Amino acid sequence: MEGIIMKALSGFYYVDDGQTVTTCRGRGKLRHQKVTPLVGDRVEFTPLGDGSGSLDRILPRKNQFYRPAVANIDQLVIIASQAIPVTDPFLIDRVAAIAQSRDCPCVICVNKCDLEPGDDLAAIYAAAGFPTLKVSAQTGEGMDELRALIAGKVSAFTGNSGVGKSSILNALDDQVDLATGDVSEKLGRGRHTTRHVELFRLGCGAVVADTPGFSSFDVDRMELMRKEELARCFPEFAPYVDQCQFQDCAHVKEKGCAVLAALKRGEIQPTRHASYVRLYEQAKAIPDWERK
Ligand code: GDP
Ligand code: ZN
Repeated sequence: MEGIIMKALSGFYYVDDGQTVTTCRGRGKLRHQKVTPLVGDRVEFTPLGDGSGSLDRILPRKNQFYRPAVANIDQLVIIASQAIPVTDPFLIDRVAAIAQSRDCPCVICVNKCDLEPGDDLAAIYAAAGFPTLKVSAQTGEGMDELRALIAGKVSAFTGNSGVGKSSILNALDDQVDLATGDVSEKLGRGRHTTRHVELFRLGCGAVVADTPGFSSFDVDRMELMRKEELARCFPEFAPYVDQCQFQDCAHVKEKGCAVLAALKRGEIQPTRHASYVRLYEQAKAIPDWERK
């Protein structure tokens, strides 16, 4: 049988085949694969008839994140807030770049649209070509659109604290018990250990993973990215990168650069390019020999 690992705990894998959840152990055949099963893995398993089973094979992954350790995410839903506190676009851009580098599409979900906007984040991301939603966990505005966007997919939610991520997840489905994620943090499992991650199946047919904030979402891995790879992590730069006449252009301050010309014409958002430059300088500061 085939299913998805929803949860991994003390050597047990909770595999959902769409009908029931089977508690599997990874023994026998799985050993030959030399891969540690991850939450989100699509697996073949053999049910033993008493609710337990054995994991037989991990199917190929389409993407993988490290912190939290989760695989096969169809889309990353980046929650931002347009009011108290307004999310710093750099934090959005950094996590969006990481997702892009893993071939994981992003959706930008701007919360607190019931409040006067401090910054029109939705306009920036819509202009940059991201699927962008305006929602309010408070009034319920935009929640049906969000449900439609996540239906039938595995989505990971991320957002720095205070943006309203818990409020949104709770509003999406009252069966979601978000305490689970927090408990392991309260138990003192540090930032450097794998944080407990779990997938939840919502009533609307969506599967969601609750993930830590921007500060820990694989951001440490960002430094492993080479500066040359960065431009492709900003998808709306692509046509201009292709047009750029300079072979090894950094697209940072070169005269005659097509990316900078697009920025000047207003076809690239200033905050998006500023984030790119900041990440580029960070990547440049790390010599290749320091990367693994
Ligand atoms: P989290 O840290 O991202 O999980 O954020 P919470 O869900 O705990 O929300 C942080 C604060 O923002 C709480 O005081 C919420 O009541 C408030 N909040 C969340 N969503 C909204 C919203 O759509 N509108 C308004 N006005 N406040 C919100
Ligand atoms: Zn250029």
